[in-house]
Amino acid sequence: METKQFQAESKRLLEMMINSIYTHKEIFLRELISNASDAIDKIYYKTLSDDTLIFDKDQYYIKIVADKENRTLKILDTGIGMTKEELETNLGTIAKSGSLAFKTENELKDGHDIIGQFGVGFYSAFMIADVVTVVSKALNSHEAYKWESKGVDGYTITPCEKDSVGTEIILTIKENTEDENYDEYLDEYRLKAIIKKYSDFIRYPIKMDVTDSKLKEGSENEYENVLEEQTINSMVPIWRKNKNELTPEDYENFYSEKHYGFDKPIKHIHISVDGAVRYNAILYIPENIPFDFYSPEYEKGLELYSNGVLIMNRCSDLLPDYFSFVKGMVDSEDLSLNISREILQHDRQLKLIAKNIGKKIKSELQSLVKNEREKYEGFYKSFGRQLKYGVYSDFGAHKEELQDLLMFYSSKEKKMVTLDEYVSRMAEDQKYIYYATGETYDRIEKLPQTELVADKGYEILYFTDDIDEFAIRMLMNYKEKEFKSVSSGDLGIDLEENKNDTASEDMDSKELFDFMKDILSDRVKDVRASKRLKTHPVCLSTDGDVSIEMEKILNAMPN
Ligand code: ADP
Ligand code: MG
Repeated sequence: METKQFQAESKRLLEMMINSIYTHKEIFLRELISNASDAIDKIYYKTLSDDTLIFDKDQYYIKIVADKENRTLKILDTGIGMTKEELETNLGTIAKSGSLAFKTENELKDGHDIIGQFGVGFYSAFMIADVVTVVSKALNSHEAYKWESKGVDGYTITPCEKDSVGTEIILTIKENTEDENYDEYLDEYRLKAIIKKYSDFIRYPIKMDVTDSKLKEGSENEYENVLEEQTINSMVPIWRKNKNELTPEDYENFYSEKHYGFDKPIKHIHISVDGAVRYNAILYIPENIPFDFYSPEYEKGLELYSNGVLIMNRCSDLLPDYFSFVKGMVDSEDLSLNISREILQHDRQLKLIAKNIGKKIKSELQSLVKNEREKYEGFYKSFGRQLKYGVYSDFGAHKEELQDLLMFYSSKEKKMVTLDEYVSRMAEDQKYIYYATGETYDRIEKLPQTELVADKGYEILYFTDDIDEFAIRMLMNYKEKEFKSVSSGDLGIDLEENKNDTASEDMDSKELFDFMKDILSDRVKDVRASKRLKTHPVCLSTDGDVSIEMEKILNAMPN
């Protein structure tokens, strides 16, 4: 028996593959299952063009068999199989993809589901196996062959026995080392979890014998463990289903199955786009702040699938920071991935998707403002800060997108209002959108500075969050109305009536004011008589750009 050598390049490539391309060893199973699924797809395409073949869906499946005693893990499929030549070319040459060739030969363009294209996935098996054995019988062939390799040393191909068409990959799992546990790849629960995680939406059943505790026959309360073949994957992803067929519960179940959160989302968004870039997405707006949301450990992002196969757990490029609370997933067949599939090759398509998604989230939030106010207010309590931060961040680059989503407490309405609502209620002679800052609504209410504005009948927005004033200053104006702090020097309110009086009063009290200024020394710039006050004897006012509240925050910041 002759041992063939991998080509020199292949040898180096294989070493690189095994050691560095993939970040997680567990993805070997995703790769082998994807190959099995591709092989079944190929048989399916063959039956489309060959009348003598019928595709009986029940005959096609993938099966995973773990044998702890012999330390082997078997991945079996009833796909198209490989001839001796195909074993040689597809598995003997790294970076040779039989699947890519199949797609080209059969002129498959859009709408197919074959995953393979790089010709490297198979070798990920060597990350966890000492020996990889492939037993395969090709469609329309009478012979079966066995390909076997221990990695860099090359491979052998020998004839063997196999009854049915298809392929069996037998992995001899490595022994545990000090830092690496390989036993887990023989463990039923672990395998089940890996299949669920990466391959849940492979369209053929992935079967496995699973121990299940069952009522003993004839007994009412005695259980026994039985080994039973189960299909592990759910096959049809919810995002490929028709929206009309899905109930709110379906979306809620998906949310909790995926562990997006423990709460009930207030809104789901199901997107199917068939345009310049095709993708499906299911997004959720959660109700509650995730417990780690404001911790540095929190990672924003959406799950990214390529054609039903999970590529990335948290793709952060899909979400802007100000929507970091959004949970969910995106599936697209148009993404160009690099060979490890864990890194995206070009981000043009991804950017396009991200842009669409951002717009969609915004419009859904806006419709909540309009149509489901209570829900929106609940949401805003949790995540309003994030939106205000979004207005402020990146030098206001996103303020246009976000300004309609902001809400503040109104002196008049005694509840949260949007800027649009404020502006639409403004009096004819009112020049500005007034706001007052303070620690609580109660305290703001009692501020002497609010009196004059309130007396004029103007509405005042109460800012109690540190970020409020920063965000508003970044906005500068809304619908051409400028924002004005009630404590600023010029309120834009006509105080013509007794201008002269002021002067004379000022003269009268000059001595007193000078005395007060003396005592307060450099803590105030000036002491003046004011026409703004109604019931309060005194108030503080600012001349410059920085309001009193802002000054407090700025002073509190570490230098
Ligand atoms: P890719 O899937 O990107 O093409 P792989 O390294 O995963 O690359 O697989 C290499 C090639 O080996 C595949 O393109 C396919 O032609 C062949 N192959 C691998 N596994 C199977 C299988 N289970 N059945 C049939 N062919 C397979
Ligand atoms: Mg592959």
